[in-house]
Amino acid sequence: MNSMQKSLVAFDTDHIKNYVFGTDRLKENRGASALLDRLNRQVMAEIAGNYEIEEDDIIYKHGGSGLFVVDSKRADEFGQEVQKKYRELTGGGASITYAVQPLPAEALQGGRDDLLTHDLSKTYTLDVMRYKLRAAKDAPANIQALSSHPFMRPCDACGVFYAEKEDRDEEDGDTFYCKSCSYKMKEDRAFRGQINSIGEEKEQFLWHRVISRLKNENYNFSGFEKVDRPRDFNEFRQFAETSKEYIGLIYADANNMGALIDELATLKALKNFAKEVDEAVIIAMSRAIKAHLPVVEIERQERKEGKTLVPVFPFDILLVGGDDIVMVTSAAKAMDVALAIATEFRKLTAENELIREATASVLGKLTAENRPIQEITAARLSLCVGVVLAPIKYPFGLLQDMAESALKFAKKTSANDREKVKNQEELAAFDGTRINFQVVTGGSHPNFNETYRKVYQHKDKDKKLEFHASLRAYKPEDLALLLQAVREGHTLNLGRTKLHQLREAILEKNLTTAVQMGLATLRNWQEQQRIFVVESVYEFGGRYQMSRSDPDNPVSGFPRVTFPWFADGKHHDRSVYRTSLLDFIELYDFVTREGGE
Ligand SMILES: [Zn+2]
Repeated sequence: MNSMQKSLVAFDTDHIKNYVFGTDRLKENRGASALLDRLNRQVMAEIAGNYEIEEDDIIYKHGGSGLFVVDSKRADEFGQEVQKKYRELTGGGASITYAVQPLPAEALQGGRDDLLTHDLSKTYTLDVMRYKLRAAKDAPANIQALSSHPFMRPCDACGVFYAEKEDRDEEDGDTFYCKSCSYKMKEDRAFRGQINSIGEEKEQFLWHRVISRLKNENYNFSGFEKVDRPRDFNEFRQFAETSKEYIGLIYADANNMGALIDELATLKALKNFAKEVDEAVIIAMSRAIKAHLPVVEIERQERKEGKTLVPVFPFDILLVGGDDIVMVTSAAKAMDVALAIATEFRKLTAENELIREATASVLGKLTAENRPIQEITAARLSLCVGVVLAPIKYPFGLLQDMAESALKFAKKTSANDREKVKNQEELAAFDGTRINFQVVTGGSHPNFNETYRKVYQHKDKDKKLEFHASLRAYKPEDLALLLQAVREGHTLNLGRTKLHQLREAILEKNLTTAVQMGLATLRNWQEQQRIFVVESVYEFGGRYQMSRSDPDNPVSGFPRVTFPWFADGKHHDRSVYRTSLLDFIELYDFVTREGGE
């Protein structure tokens, strides 16, 4: 390498979710996501080519961000050109922020390999770069109006921007779109459903990449050469035998990614880590799809042909890459899919050489620095999932917020549990995976934390009692147990009326009427059903007690049940009571009967 001055140019897309979920229509959401993905993976790289940025100088370019090693003299020009392309190709709908950080001279003395493995932590190069990027994002946006010829009529899709005459709907001449929305739709049409024509060269398109990973995982395409995606949310009614009027929105996001990345000291470590996590996310999703979401044939009203049977993927992907996934399935499959994504991601990242290398180096560094055990969060990667089960007709924008708040609650549970880790051994065994769900009814609060506080939790300070009518957010092994219990419950035909009575009993959240009503409901069931319900409470009670039992006092591990509650020790001076039954009842109608692997 010559003595040319080099800089890092870092990118971060602005307000991704506002752009992707700007309308309530599936096609635009999907198109917006695909367009951002292509800009990030393909267009950024093409522009980099014009600046003599070689493959090795691209540290990463996915998940809404990018990091490149660029000749310092041209760094700003490169950043601005990428910004310009983002605005152009999205019709002004999306934007991206960049920051330039010069590399220290000593990092540039050797060859490229030396640069990639140079420890940048001593000069705080990466920290300063991240600070600059954040500061640039916080600064007021430099909005540049795009030349356009609006005729004063708001866009029929988003209602925000003015429509353009030439962007009239292909099928409906009376519908007009703004540039931003019409570009989203155009991008969505790029995927035509052909499976066999998908090759390596089409990796720039999100759906082609999905198909190629599904092929790698031996997904069953049922012999079809062309499989379509759902046209709209209404088609999800045909994807399940039960709960047809409900969809499941799944939002998964890796834990502690920011904290982990902050500790990586070389460009090479960053490069490997970012690439492998991005790949683990899409493979985990593909495995979940393979296990639970085979192609279905649905009836479609076509204009020319009339009613036709069409093979369709019974799901849609609204975001995938970097470290998160947003997807939609029928409500009946959503919990199984969420569980599979979380467990597969955990497995994939634990098995991956390069990820293990990166996390081990961070673990070693933090240990050497004598950081408190709770700060050493890099044991192994995991992710949290928020699932929302909601009526098909519910405004999608609101669901997106709800899924985000369900996810946030899962992350908080995970962080709280991590705080309880006492030593290195427990840290090494700690799995931060948590899965949360919310069933949306008419009066649902958009914030899950509020729902939890108001509906599921009760603190009786006078009697020194505390009730939790939910075990959310779930560890994967506990969720597997709950879903299994729901399936067994179905075979026993527990009956909605009796489950409803039990629900009312639990929501009393006390040890008097709740217990009386609970026992009265039990008496209405046949013996086999009764045993099943009680044992299910005992099983979770046992798991809770076991995880915190005192080895010197074996009796402390004995589960105490006060049906419908199990006792779970003390919190401050209050005796704590919990139950899994309300979660069981809420999922009873949704979990697919045939389900499981
Ligand atoms: Zn629009």
